[in-house]
Amino acid sequence: SSVDARPAPVISVIGTGYLGATHAAAMAEMGLDTIGVDVDPAKLAALSAGEVPFYEPGLPELITKHVATGKLRFTADIAEAVGAADVHFVCVGTPQKAGSHAANLSYVESATRGVAEHLTHPGLIVGKSTVPVGTAERLRGIVREFTPSGIEAELVWNPEFLREGKAVDDTLHPDRLVWGGASAAADAVIREVYAAPIAEGTPVITTDLATAELVKVSANAFLATKISFINAISEMCAITGADVTTLADALGHDARIGRKFLNAGLGFGGGCLPKDIRALMHRANELGAGRVVGLMQQVDEINMGQRERVIDMTIESLGGSVLNRRVAVIGAAFKPLTDDVRDSPALNVAAALHLRGAQVTLWDPEANETARRSFPTLSYATSKEDAIEGADVVLVLTEWDDIIGADPVALGELAGRRTVIDARNCLPVADWVKAGWTVRSLGRPTPV
Ligand code: NAD
Repeated sequence: SSVDARPAPVISVIGTGYLGATHAAAMAEMGLDTIGVDVDPAKLAALSAGEVPFYEPGLPELITKHVATGKLRFTADIAEAVGAADVHFVCVGTPQKAGSHAANLSYVESATRGVAEHLTHPGLIVGKSTVPVGTAERLRGIVREFTPSGIEAELVWNPEFLREGKAVDDTLHPDRLVWGGASAAADAVIREVYAAPIAEGTPVITTDLATAELVKVSANAFLATKISFINAISEMCAITGADVTTLADALGHDARIGRKFLNAGLGFGGGCLPKDIRALMHRANELGAGRVVGLMQQVDEINMGQRERVIDMTIESLGGSVLNRRVAVIGAAFKPLTDDVRDSPALNVAAALHLRGAQVTLWDPEANETARRSFPTLSYATSKEDAIEGADVVLVLTEWDDIIGADPVALGELAGRRTVIDARNCLPVADWVKAGWTVRSLGRPTPV
């Protein structure tokens, strides 16, 4: 039919950070011509050379592949990209505003305006950034104001659920696709863009703008709540001698609960959950939804309190002071399989101990460099052995396989004192105890 003969839509992706770079590569992999746009020339140069400026498994390969096939290119010229494309994905950041819990929406506003004012033919603007409910409706005003007269533009919201560390697979094979506010024509275009995952049977939920925005924020709020829930219970376990890991395993067998996001430990961090629950608190307060405010405040407080618990446990294990004591920290990333240290509990604890006068030596298999950039005064080791050599206490703050699978006997020979704080409840405790280590955890009894 004539519909099938239409050329496939060309894609522009505005903002090529974690989300945008992954989304652009995935669009190319789904067979669509894709242009990535960013305001950071260094990022664009790296991406054009097939280099990803952050650690994300599989992403450099995918970008290199499609830069070579010509399906994917990067430019700083938004006018050129928007002029060449039909569907424009807004993937810029929405970080926490300085001095407030609110999200900083200046990047989504300027990116949306940038697309609108450079439209030369009908365009579909698809917001993917995580935004407070009501944002998309306001952005529609910007689109109306800045789109050249006579040109049709539509804005819809299509939140993204990818996980850092599994971003490529999550984007190519999402659990579900959600978009809101689309006209029938826009809906058809989005289905064409996502033809590959839809053909695989990915569930599609289409809804209004507000629901689409809130789905994403609620998903992150729920995940954060699940982690803070088990961390609250871990406090009861610590007091009573119960074992929070066994408890979580038992809870997890209930299909209504599920085992994922039920690991007690140092808590959540990163560029998404903390800022998203705070933006939700702020927006809920504006809207008069007091129960959401209270719930999210508790979730945040429990989460931040875990960092205090680990700091206190470290001080206590060193007899009351960390001053001039050697602390080996394993892990800086906010979770394994990423080099992201944004709001990382691990780096936060390492920094806090450093500020109390401890000699902190940190090692992370991927995040040493990103950590060094945000906290240059810590010592960075070249290996876990190097970090642990002569240490008075070892802190496991990110659950990397490198430390889970390490030989506690060999590490024990290097350490000054065989005390380890397993702040992620991730170590095979019996093996470490057998190797002469004292193991302390959050809500798991200390074996003797
Ligand atoms: P990021 O900081 O890594 O990337 C944002 C990029 O946008 C940067 O490269 C920046 O230079 C660029 N940018 C800013 N203003 C621009 C403009 N006007 N024009 C073009 N480029 C511009 O952030 P991120 O982690 O990719 O997050 C982006 C959004 O996606 C956020 O709203 C975030 O909450 C959401 N999100 C992130 C993830 C994740 O795992 N990182 C997952 C789902 C959703």
